Amino acid sequence: MTEPYDAVSVIRTKRDHGRIPDAQIDWVIDAYTRGAVADEQMSALAMAILLNGMAPDELARWTEAMIATGERLDLSGVRLPTTDKHSTGGVGDKITLPLAPLVASLGAAVPQLSGRGLGHTGGTLDKLEAIPGWRANLTNSEFLDQLNSVGAVVCAAGDGLAPADRKLYALRDVTGTVEAIPLIASSIMSKKIAEGSSALVLDVKVGSGAFMKNLADARELAETMVALGTAAGTHTVALLTDMDTPLGRTAGNALEVRESLEVLAGGGPADVVELTVALASEMLAGVGITDVDPAAALADGRAMDTWRRMIAAQGGDPDADLPVAREKHLVAAPATGVLTRLDAYAVGVAAWRLGAGRARKEDAVSAGAGVVLLAKPGEQVTEGQPLFELHADDAGRFDRAIEALDGAVDIGAAGAHTATPLVLGRVTAQR
Ligand code: URA
Repeated sequence: MTEPYDAVSVIRTKRDHGRIPDAQIDWVIDAYTRGAVADEQMSALAMAILLNGMAPDELARWTEAMIATGERLDLSGVRLPTTDKHSTGGVGDKITLPLAPLVASLGAAVPQLSGRGLGHTGGTLDKLEAIPGWRANLTNSEFLDQLNSVGAVVCAAGDGLAPADRKLYALRDVTGTVEAIPLIASSIMSKKIAEGSSALVLDVKVGSGAFMKNLADARELAETMVALGTAAGTHTVALLTDMDTPLGRTAGNALEVRESLEVLAGGGPADVVELTVALASEMLAGVGITDVDPAAALADGRAMDTWRRMIAAQGGDPDADLPVAREKHLVAAPATGVLTRLDAYAVGVAAWRLGAGRARKEDAVSAGAGVVLLAKPGEQVTEGQPLFELHADDAGRFDRAIEALDGAVDIGAAGAHTATPLVLGRVTAQR
């Protein structure tokens, strides 16, 4: 096939700070996905985008072109309004587990296509796979049937959604171009828009355990994604939320399922409950449901009922015992005082080294492995008291996890701790 454009002139346009014409955007994305643009050419273009950015309309076209390389789910047969959430990823972020059934119990349908974890942040599918029998892969018709019968589905994204992104993301990973805000935004939003829900809430994490380390970058990413969602006709809102400290008191697959069950039973850590309720309110408001009380639906068991149906519909046994790691090890507090800092990144790396996460896509994860946080910032601790409980199937993993936790906490005098809010900002479409 004769190609209508050549990659070198597209690269030169971006290298020289120009706007790539629409037809050339459509072509370069499609041609790269087909293999007609080489990896080295796309990596030069990705680097030019990282350095020189993209205009808003240019990025919207780029995102549309990525969506056009695959299928778009048709949710028109779903009886309830559809609303979804995406988190940019953090440590102990198990919010999807209580959130999806909670929102479904209040009259909206939640079609959540999720991924597995890579590196120090856990993946929702890895957590749910800790439940005996639960399966992540559904056909399109099983997915739609479950949305109508239960109202919530959390399952694996098929290969059909935005295939350009899979190829481009793997290339960015090895060419130092992951951190470009336009490329992150188009990567996430191409998949989310292709999923086809009417409303979308983005949980953009900020802090040591997140992709975005500072509030200004997180806000720019959130504004860029909200603009893309809005341009595509999806009602999109973002919350900027703290990820300097892990969410809740557990990081690790089965450990996080157990903590989510506490939240669904009306208890659980206050931060997990607060974020679950805040995101549920946004997801429901996005489809016009405002006269409901998500906190009450957690407290009175409605969300738990939907959870049980959601798990059972995918082959899981909601009453089965969850896996427990074979070995445990306690790490003691180095001083007496108030815990003023508990580093999310360090906890994420420790959980990963204990076996909760994977280094390569093909690796298996340990369902029982992870870290239990026995104290959180603001709490009084005494030197020698256990701060972390490490769980692993193999005791040989403890040393490297303990190394990761070296320097992970600060302990100060009474009054040294200032609480920071969990929700740091909200981003809506600009007019
Ligand atoms: N998650 C994605 O899906 N894409 C990115 O580029 C970054 C995070």
